[in-house]
Amino acid sequence: MLKIENLHAQVGETSILKGLSLTINAGEIHAIMGPNGAGKSTLAYTLGGRPGYEVTEGSATFDGQDLLALEPHERAAAGLFLGFQYPVEIPGVSNLQFLRESLNSQRRARGEEPLSGAEFIKLAKEKAALLKMDMDMLKRPVNVGFSGGEKKRNEMVQMGIIDPKLALLDETDSGLDIDALRIVGEGINTIMRKPDKAVLLITHYQRLLDLVKPDFVHVLAGGRIVRSGGAELALELEEQGYEAVA
Ligand code: ADP
Ligand code: MG
Ligand code: MG
Repeated sequence: MLKIENLHAQVGETSILKGLSLTINAGEIHAIMGPNGAGKSTLAYTLGGRPGYEVTEGSATFDGQDLLALEPHERAAAGLFLGFQYPVEIPGVSNLQFLRESLNSQRRARGEEPLSGAEFIKLAKEKAALLKMDMDMLKRPVNVGFSGGEKKRNEMVQMGIIDPKLALLDETDSGLDIDALRIVGEGINTIMRKPDKAVLLITHYQRLLDLVKPDFVHVLAGGRIVRSGGAELALELEEQGYEAVA
């Protein structure tokens, strides 16, 4: 699904990713761990196509397509979802409006019919129920006045409605209390643990990986993957620290 080869990327004059390679197949959950400043967020931003993140060498293909040649909205329409530590608030725009517009613009980009209002509400109700979110929350402005846990549940409902092929979640678990963490863990499992989907979780914490068991764990240090293993590698890292393991 995602094949990254020898990726080099820089922000301004600073080179951050220095030859990163990673392959993710459908049905797999991968975790990336690594010290602060290793380049984890840079990887997420580069794959998402954030302006200012310049690829200087290497390639990334998504379902065989040159991901790096696509505009950010085209990457989303192709099935890439990015989740971040701090979901943004959008005053004046309801969750339902925001989600319907996001979904339908992606559907149009894929040459699919946009959903009607009634079809969309049916889908939103289904996903909200699946993720135990009150429909009233979806009528409120995006994330405005939401607690940390509510923002996370909202993000999981967004992911459920958008229904991406690949979710790239950058420290989406940082700073969460136990309940919010469980919401995120269950959300990822419910929506994304499917044979035709994949997840790349960037995290510092084993506690998320107890809920979402990764098939592969990678250590990113100095802009490259320096070690890969199974779920046990995360436990080893937690016990011994990055320096001993990487
Ligand atoms: P991580 O997410 O692993 O903590 P980042 O990808 O955020 O690491 O950052 C990797 C390195 O790139 C750090 O040394 C950071 O200071 C640097 N960096 C990140 N963003 C910028 C930027 N906009 N301009 C210059 N340097 C940056
Ligand atoms: Mg960091
Ligand atoms: Mg980061």
